[in-house]
Amino acid sequence: MINLESYAEIVGQDVIEHLHQLAERLKGVKVIHVNSTREGGGVAEILRRLVPLMQELGLEVSWEVITGDPRFFHCTKTMHNALQGKRVGISAQEIAHYEEINQKNAVLLCPRLEEADVVFVHDPQPAALIKFCSNRKGKWIWRCHIDISKPYRPVWKYLRQFVVSYDASVFHLADFAQPLPHLQFLIPPSIDPLSEKNIELSSEEIRETYERFGVDLERPITLQVSRFDRFKDPIGVIEAYKLAKKFIPSLQLVLAGGGAQDDPEGQIVLEEVKQVSQEDPDIHVLFLPANAHRTVNALQRGADIVLQKSIKEGFGLTVTEAMWKEKPVIGGNAGGIRLQVVNHHTGFLVSTPEGAALRMRYLFQNPHKRKQMGEKAKKFVLENFLITRHLRDYLTLMVSLLYNVEERIELG
Ligand code: UDP
Repeated sequence: MINLESYAEIVGQDVIEHLHQLAERLKGVKVIHVNSTREGGGVAEILRRLVPLMQELGLEVSWEVITGDPRFFHCTKTMHNALQGKRVGISAQEIAHYEEINQKNAVLLCPRLEEADVVFVHDPQPAALIKFCSNRKGKWIWRCHIDISKPYRPVWKYLRQFVVSYDASVFHLADFAQPLPHLQFLIPPSIDPLSEKNIELSSEEIRETYERFGVDLERPITLQVSRFDRFKDPIGVIEAYKLAKKFIPSLQLVLAGGGAQDDPEGQIVLEEVKQVSQEDPDIHVLFLPANAHRTVNALQRGADIVLQKSIKEGFGLTVTEAMWKEKPVIGGNAGGIRLQVVNHHTGFLVSTPEGAALRMRYLFQNPHKRKQMGEKAKKFVLENFLITRHLRDYLTLMVSLLYNVEERIELG
């Protein structure tokens, strides 16, 4: 069984000791995380391990998922797109439905949420819960996972009226922080090196996975793993691949993705991607179930180069996952990708398909550079983006909020 001690081998014993010290002040504290999907997408990926690790440290933690109908998720997806900068409004009926669904969830959840010492509400979908839990005792934190640096103002103005009621908010990076009348914390996400998604795999397993999808491991492979979402720019990836293929004729592209329960647009984008790629047998579009973690792991390990050409990106866990597997990443020059891809060191930041193609060509022509960048990438993740660092940040945040500590936290 995986427990905190299992991470000592990777991050060092002192890091684990430090976590125990911090958690000493939080023993028995009741914490609830609330989001809108248990499978699919980065938030679910992180909570799956973070929750049990917090429990092991002596906190009383649970994870609640709100439910909604397709209309609700359509509305929250529009909201998500608008917060990431798309100029789309939301009708009064949709807004009313958004609040109604939050209210329905509140009827079920509020008795527990109101008793909790700390409530983390993730992203816009459940953000309005706070309006309906008027007897809350604890600290409520709005945890934003998306790139909200340049939101479409009318939609942000609407959501902001709920966010201001929280005691604090958390953003991935300073660029995303907003003028708000409460404390804001900057906490980038992380990956779990011991999850099925990231553990070491045998070369046979990697080979079998690629064979299952009819991809030739002997030929160059470039990969993007992500939900079929316009902000992930799968069409731009195909363009980049087509440009690079002129110079590397044996090149293959794997676009692997799935849907998330809270993302109704996926199917439409997938159809578009299939349309654009249908005539090229070297483009492999794989629609994976949400729990295909080992498959994603094997695909990432077997690829030569990983792309994440997003136009907007809250963080991009797939970037960290690939870097942990010593892959150079060609990432879109957007949001959280900028925090991870150290341009020219752990990969390249690009803004256009042409830019991505140029970097693909360079990396395929320079295998030595590819290896070197991959090694640096893994080290960078080890130092900055593993779950133990994330856990430490959350514990620090809770100590600081519950004990009103603003500057220094003294460990026992
Ligand atoms: N993922 C997956 N299967 C897929 C597509 C994505 O398991 O078909 C995982 C991916 O490995 C990553 C997470 O879902 O762990 C996506 O997180 P990211 O931050 O990259 O993007 P988000 O979907 O949250 O926008």
